[in-house]
Amino acid sequence: MTPEKQLELWVKGDPRCPNDQVECCPDFSCCKRELLLPLAERERFVAEPARREEMMLGALARSLSLEDQVAMVLSGRERSAAKAGEPSC
Ligand SMILES: [Zn+2]
Repeated sequence: MTPEKQLELWVKGDPRCPNDQVECCPDFSCCKRELLLPLAERERFVAEPARREEMMLGALARSLSLEDQVAMVLSGRERSAAKAGEPSC
């Protein structure tokens, strides 16, 4: 699959990876479906190559914050479990 074909499918709402360059879709929705940008933004991405980097960083930041949230919940649980067993000073 060429990068151009990948973009074409992505705009149509069918994100797939990897392409010939072993790349994901611009918003990584091929790997994480909930990251799929709205159609208007996907069309703008293709129409405005100059803004591509900015939009990809935005999508990446959203994916990281999603994982950060999960990590925070998990570590918070561990901390409160550890605290319960510790003697208070
Ligand atoms: Zn992918």
